[in-house]
Amino acid sequence: MKLIIVGPPGSGKGTIAKRLIPDFKLTHISPGEMLREEVSKKTSLGEEINKYISQGQLVPDNVVSDMVKLKIRGHPDFVLDGFPRTVEQAQILDKFTKIDLVLSLDVSEKISVERLSGRRVCSKCETPFHIKFMMPKKPGVCDKCGGKLVQRSDEKPAIVKERFKIYHQQSLPVVKHYQKKKILQIVDASGAPEEVYDNIKEAINSLKK
Ligand code: AMP
Repeated sequence: MKLIIVGPPGSGKGTIAKRLIPDFKLTHISPGEMLREEVSKKTSLGEEINKYISQGQLVPDNVVSDMVKLKIRGHPDFVLDGFPRTVEQAQILDKFTKIDLVLSLDVSEKISVERLSGRRVCSKCETPFHIKFMMPKKPGVCDKCGGKLVQRSDEKPAIVKERFKIYHQQSLPVVKHYQKKKILQIVDASGAPEEVYDNIKEAINSLKK
């Protein structure tokens, strides 16, 4: 099965994708993670990428699409988390593979800013925590690997607002692109994580019937 999850920042794309991997035996493809990995290597490409990410802007289509294409090869079942984010990326993907289902997560800007400003991620393994909703056992330390928990620079409120604006400008046309293809399901992502995940599983299982 080939799945796409799209949604504004703070809609829970990454958290949901990570649960879908074992439940539906999927490969996780997250351009956000791949881009941050390149930044952390401090290569010249990484430095270029960081200029966009730190301002909440989208990285150029050709850079992201090439990374995704390489990763998709040899993986028949995957969940794409945060790709495509522009119609151009969707058109590139259309030429490359056939998607079964696109889940569009719906959440307000207010909830998005509240969720992301309290989010902390492990600097080593990227496991997410939240200072209010999902506290680590020991403050500032990852439960899984002991890594240091940090706030991503693009999760500061002003940058989140910019990312939200860009989502509406550039990524909502992507939602319409898949609506026309009749493979889109809109999921209310404002509720508790368990409730949202149940809605997602229902959408996927209805596809299998
Ligand atoms: P994410 O981890 O998915 O929230 O992505 C974090 C940041 O990485 C975004 O704000 C963009 O700067 C960049 N990024 C991730 N996915 C894409 C994409 N499909 N196209 C362009 N930039 C992306």
